[in-house]
Amino acid sequence: MKKNQFAVIGLGTFGYSVAVELAKKGMQVLAVDNNNETVNRISQFVTQALIADATDEKAMEDAGVADCDSVIISIGGNIETSILAILIVKEFGVKNVIVKSSSRWHSKVAAKLGVDTVVYPEFEMAKKLVDNIVMPNILEQIELSKDYNLVEVVAPKEIWGKTIKNSNIRNNYGVNIIAIRKHVPIINDDGQSDIKEEINMMPGSDDEIGRNDILVVIGSEKSVAKLRG
Ligand code: ADP
Repeated sequence: MKKNQFAVIGLGTFGYSVAVELAKKGMQVLAVDNNNETVNRISQFVTQALIADATDEKAMEDAGVADCDSVIISIGGNIETSILAILIVKEFGVKNVIVKSSSRWHSKVAAKLGVDTVVYPEFEMAKKLVDNIVMPNILEQIELSKDYNLVEVVAPKEIWGKTIKNSNIRNNYGVNIIAIRKHVPIINDDGQSDIKEEINMMPGSDDEIGRNDILVVIGSEKSVAKLRG
């Protein structure tokens, strides 16, 4: 495989979806699994699908894994297999190694082995689900650092109809607005009333915050908690 290509090793639910979604986005994808049925199933969706053992260095090299820029190792069920696959791919010198973890220890070992990105989908989804249940006004939350989050939040009632300047949002809540998403009623081509989303990517101090606008803000966890009320 040539440069700028992806290899996905382990085609369980997660790896299979990653490989197919990457291919849908026009990427070159090499999909590898030791299960021939899985490899057959995915072969129509990806650039190349191969039956190979992830713990066999020679088989991985022959498959072309060493020549890929990014390798995603998605063997969650068997940590030992995942770790051996990580070691092999790291020894190949692959630039970007992403690993799907299945436990806290799996994540720790992967990080110690120098993996660039460790994802732990079950844990991350559980956290997201709980956030959505407990904080329904928070639509999306990305941790930028230990202290700061990028958050999409429904604008609190107190500032509806106010300009950013008059809302005093920075002093009152300690957050910075970086974008405003508005839902504007329109009449569509069929003459039906519809809602269109407009995004103000560079809100100025005189821009108004409307009822039900969604604010994209940066702030500490405490500030964001205050904003969501
Ligand atoms: P998920 O939780 O995403 O479903 P699993 O850990 O259940 O992930 O699936 C792992 C995938 O990796 C399976 O498709 C399995 O056939 C494959 N796999 C397991 N061991 C190896 C190996 N040594 N070499 C290649 N593929 C493997």
